[in-house]
Amino acid sequence: MKVFVAVDIEGVAGVVHTDEGSPGTPEYERARRLMTNEASAVIAGIFDADPHAEVTVADVHGPYRNIIPELLDERATLLRGKPRHFGMMDGIDDGEFDCAMFIGVHGKAGTDDSVLSHTFTGSILDVVVNGASWGELGLNAAMAGAYGVPVVLVAGDQSVVSEAAELLGSDVTLVQTKQSRGHLTSESMHPNASCRLLRKSAEAAIRHVPMVAPLTVSNPVTVEVTLNRPVLADLIAMIDDVERVNGRTVRFTRADFPNAFRILRLITVLCSTPV
Ligand SMILES: [Zn+2]
Repeated sequence: MKVFVAVDIEGVAGVVHTDEGSPGTPEYERARRLMTNEASAVIAGIFDADPHAEVTVADVHGPYRNIIPELLDERATLLRGKPRHFGMMDGIDDGEFDCAMFIGVHGKAGTDDSVLSHTFTGSILDVVVNGASWGELGLNAAMAGAYGVPVVLVAGDQSVVSEAAELLGSDVTLVQTKQSRGHLTSESMHPNASCRLLRKSAEAAIRHVPMVAPLTVSNPVTVEVTLNRPVLADLIAMIDDVERVNGRTVRFTRADFPNAFRILRLITVLCSTPV
């Protein structure tokens, strides 16, 4: 079994504040350890189920250099650093993976009672794919799906668990590590308890792989992105075949999801342009 494990930080048990995801703060140093421990717990669970597994861990938060390599379970390899062609899902396009797991996940932009909810950047208010509003969870799952890879486990707060249940169906293993009570407040499991639960859940998820279908998107793929500032739409409308819908919204159509996802990557980069 070849497994792709994407690890973000906002959904990790105990994490509630932007400082905890921002390099340079003492709180970040603790949060990255918690993130590393959750990744190691999932790796252990995968090997409990399949001692011959191959596991790629993708660090997918901010600078993509958060997981502490020497503290990660040594049976996995670590995908680290940026930029990456397909961002958080770069590597899935190898087409070699049997399943994917997403841990430390946060809710989509604008979600109520969802710690640190956002979609790629604080500048994006919404992303709508073929009429459905999706956050990072849906967009990343569709990228995996484009390469035939099912997402078999999703871990984060209660908002992530319900987003995943709606998107991915009842056979995906859902792990709630905290209950958000606002954008910067949650009641969380103890990190040790969360790691024990993640290990057991990852083991169970590997056994359920044949039951879970990849998330697929019909082609062609039309995406609308709503920005928080019209000046960002001004910039984004410079990309070939991206049309302006209104002051804050742009729309584009691409032949398939990976090509649409690359435009989303580019939009995310443009959102950090000083204007
Ligand atoms: Zn993140």
